[in-house]
Amino acid sequence: MNVPEIQIKDVSMVYQVNNGEDIVALTDVNLDIQEGEFISLLGPSGCGKTTLLRIIADLNQPTSGSVSTRGQSPRDIRLQRKNGIVFQSPVLYDWRTVRRNICMPMEIMGVPKKERTARINQVLELVKLQDFGDKYPFELSGGMQQRVGIARALALNPEFLLMDEPFSALDEFTREKLNEDLLGIWSKTKKTVIFVTHNIPESVFLSDRVVVLSPHPGRITAIVDIDLPRPRENSIRETPEFYEYVTKIRRSFEGV
Ligand code: ADP
Ligand code: MG
Repeated sequence: MNVPEIQIKDVSMVYQVNNGEDIVALTDVNLDIQEGEFISLLGPSGCGKTTLLRIIADLNQPTSGSVSTRGQSPRDIRLQRKNGIVFQSPVLYDWRTVRRNICMPMEIMGVPKKERTARINQVLELVKLQDFGDKYPFELSGGMQQRVGIARALALNPEFLLMDEPFSALDEFTREKLNEDLLGIWSKTKKTVIFVTHNIPESVFLSDRVVVLSPHPGRITAIVDIDLPRPRENSIRETPEFYEYVTKIRRSFEGV
């Protein structure tokens, strides 16, 4: 196997809360992620998915253990904006058009105007919003707003994308469409993606590997390789192979 792009070693996280109690959010998480891989972190609410993503993004410091991206710390990666983050809510500025929302991280990083315009056009096309650049967020559907969030995360051409339940607030039809489109974006950009979800079919549809987490304390209980052919279209959800993966993963939660 190749040298992994991201190495998560013995990561544990304990939150100290006001009443003096300790909440163990993660224990001994070990995971190697390969360059270009699409990996899902799957588990019920409270199993530490967001905590793990925030540690990778340098938004939380682990109590022990480490994360390294080709020898660089999460802090190095954050300061160089080598990661792109997409949250459940796209957090767009209402008074800025789609183009100017996408532009934000590039303005902060001092990217020259000409390059910014070229980049905006490129990512708008990737998320299929070419005709919506001059709209305001309130003029867009929830699914389109989340596409803007993805475009903004891609604007600085990061090495990997961290996505925390980006489609959870969307209806099932929109979610499935965005799942398919996300795979299109992934295959075009070849980014490594770490995708958090509590939705089993979503994780199977998208991933090369599904990392199954269980709560109390949060830990990895299984890693399932998804050997379904690519490119994947939504019709693959109707195949027996797809159903078998969903069933296998669902059963891995039983008795936990
Ligand atoms: P998930 O994203 O899988 O729902 P989280 O990472 O948000 O899980 O949370 C894991 C555990 O850590 C939960 O028990 C949660 O209550 C706790 N937790 C998360 N963030 C904090 C925090 N800032 N302070 C205290 N406890 C927290
Ligand atoms: Mg979460």
